[in-house]
Amino acid sequence: MSGAISNMTSIRTPASRMASRRGVFGLAAGALALGSLSGAGLAEAATAKSTQKAVDYQSHPKGGKGCNTCNAFQPPSKCKTVEGPVEASGWCNKYKKS
Ligand code: SF4
Repeated sequence: MSGAISNMTSIRTPASRMASRRGVFGLAAGALALGSLSGAGLAEAATAKSTQKAVDYQSHPKGGKGCNTCNAFQPPSKCKTVEGPVEASGWCNKYKKS
């Protein structure tokens, strides 16, 4: 009896094949949508700058280190990694000597 049931469940009708294809296409469409969202999110994350507060930015140097000697500094007052205007004499905890 159980053999008969298992044989019955393996019978594929045209309707069940269509339902299965729809399921596969639905999953593929969902995966594509998810992939594009992830791509957009990754691109945004790659270009996002930190807030000055998040990196402890201050408008004066620390220990002789300042924006003017940091590799992220873009004179006269921009930074590649921190939002807003920064001063050449400023400093933050992302400082990297150029
Ligand atoms: S010290 Fe901080 S704010 Fe200044 S240039 Fe470097 S990363 Fe930007």
